Amino acid sequence: MRERRTPITFQELNLHPQLLKAVESLGWAEPTPIQAQAIPIALQGRDVLGGAQTGSGKTAAFVLPILHKLLHSPSHGMKALVLVPTRELAMQVLEAVQDCGKFTNIKAGAVIGGVGYGAQRQSFSQGTPIQVATPGRFLDHLRQHSMKVEGVETLVLDEADRMLDMGFIHDIR
Ligand code: AMP
Repeated sequence: MRERRTPITFQELNLHPQLLKAVESLGWAEPTPIQAQAIPIALQGRDVLGGAQTGSGKTAAFVLPILHKLLHSPSHGMKALVLVPTRELAMQVLEAVQDCGKFTNIKAGAVIGGVGYGAQRQSFSQGTPIQVATPGRFLDHLRQHSMKVEGVETLVLDEADRMLDMGFIHDIR
């Protein structure tokens, strides 16, 4: 059997042209190892369990497939939910969505504690397709029935090990 070659350029990953334009404008010459390995699997709609350190490009490894999917089948409502352990990490993920999605109109919202509920509820009712959430606030919205997760097609547990270390095991379950 012929060995499958790992893609080495973003073009070979077959990402949407608007995403290729973004990575080019960001000056990213080629996918990092976690991107080269995870993106093709995610684009097939399969589950990915990835281990990579901060600085490895892991955020874009899940943000690019989410954006790609949304560009190919735009629809109203939350389609992707990213759970992160901290507010700081939520901001970093939002930044990655802005960077990778700079040539798209795709919006992302932050579902984090320490701020009011109103703007977050408004973001749900506006049908923002990507929500980046910390577990506590996410569960608050679920309990208040202000957030519906039925339409979610992609779930990301970013830094899952850290979420478990921080005692979010019951929340995650
Ligand atoms: P992360 O590991 O997700 O925290 O990403 C670390 C940094 O790498 C971020 O500042 C990204 O902008 C950058 N980055 C992500 N993918 C690439 C790439 N393919 N080439 C160069 N830099 C990248």
